Amino acid sequence: RARRTRTRIFLPHLVAAMEEVEETYVMVKPDGVQRGLVGEIISRFEKKGFLLKGLKLFQCSKELAEEHYKDLKGKTFFPKLIDYITSGPVVCMAWEGVGVVASARKLIGATNPLQAEPGTIRGDLSVQMGRNVVHGSDSPENGKREIALWFKEGEICSWVPVQAPWLRE
Ligand code: ADP
Repeated sequence: RARRTRTRIFLPHLVAAMEEVEETYVMVKPDGVQRGLVGEIISRFEKKGFLLKGLKLFQCSKELAEEHYKDLKGKTFFPKLIDYITSGPVVCMAWEGVGVVASARKLIGATNPLQAEPGTIRGDLSVQMGRNVVHGSDSPENGKREIALWFKEGEICSWVPVQAPWLRE
C-alpha cells in the first residue's frame, strides 16, 4: 500500500524529467531577409512560446556555410546552396524550449515549399526549395552544434521571461 502511494507521488516528477529542454538553431535565409520577412518569422516562434536566447544579423563566409551544411556535401545542389546562403545577410537565432527542435521543424514546414502545409512558414511564404526562407536544426545534437557554430559564447543569453508561469504549469 505504501508503495502505491509513493508511485502516485513520484510519477508526475518522472514525467517532468522526460520533458527535456532543448535548443535549436533557426536562421532566416538571405531571401527571407531581402523580402522583409524577418519580423514575421521571429514572431511565429515568439508567439508559440519558445525562448529566444540569441539573435543577430550576419553575413557568413563560404567556410562557415560549408561547415553548417557539411552533411549535404556531394549533393548536386550543394554549390548553389552555398552561393544562396552566402549571398546576403542572414538572421541567426537560438531558441530554447521543451520539444523545440521538432516543433520548430513543424512550424517551418517541409523542405519543398510547394509540399509544405499552409500555416507553416515555408507553406505560407515561399515557392521553391532553393528559396525556402528559413532553416531549422533537424535534431537536438545539431541544434547544439549549429548554435556553437554560428554564435560566440557571449552572444547567448539565459533568461526567464515574465510569462514563463503562463506558458507551462
Ligand atoms: P531542410 O532545410 O528542410 O532541413 P535539407 O537539410 O535536406 O532540408 O537541405 C538543406 C537546404 O538545402 C534546404 O532547406 C534547401 O534550401 C536546400 N535544398 C535541399 N534539397 C534541395 C534540392 N533538391 N534542390 C535545391 N535545393 C535543395
